[in-house]
Amino acid sequence: MKRPMVLREPGARPLRLDMRMETDASFEELLLRARGRVIEAVRGLIAPVSDDRFLHAAIYGGRVRRASVDGKAAWVPSPREIDFLGDMVLSVLASAVLTDRDYYRAHLGLCELCGTVTFRDAADTRAQCAEHRVSGFTLRAR
Ligand SMILES: [Zn+2]
Repeated sequence: MKRPMVLREPGARPLRLDMRMETDASFEELLLRARGRVIEAVRGLIAPVSDDRFLHAAIYGGRVRRASVDGKAAWVPSPREIDFLGDMVLSVLASAVLTDRDYYRAHLGLCELCGTVTFRDAADTRAQCAEHRVSGFTLRAR
């Protein structure tokens, strides 16, 4: 992938990548929107009835492709510099999930309080990150 000249995300003002520019509020807005789309994809993937539309979107959008990695069939990210930032990030997640879906289904987690993506032991079904997990009790969001 070529280095993007502009970062884009639906609902956010495009941000021209120029090292001479200082970041402003539009950069944070763009990051928040991209992060929100990634969190929604993870939430859907780990839901009891899995919503894996982002995997299909990545495949049919050409943002992942099949490849041989160390002699094994795998999926690798192949985003384009014109893709939305969230789609670039989701292409990395999609390639990992498509390569080893059982692992991600068993271990991927999402803290519902702060949105941190976590990896957990299979027997640990709590949906909180280490910061929000308190010896068996769950903190409530205010
Ligand atoms: Zn948390």
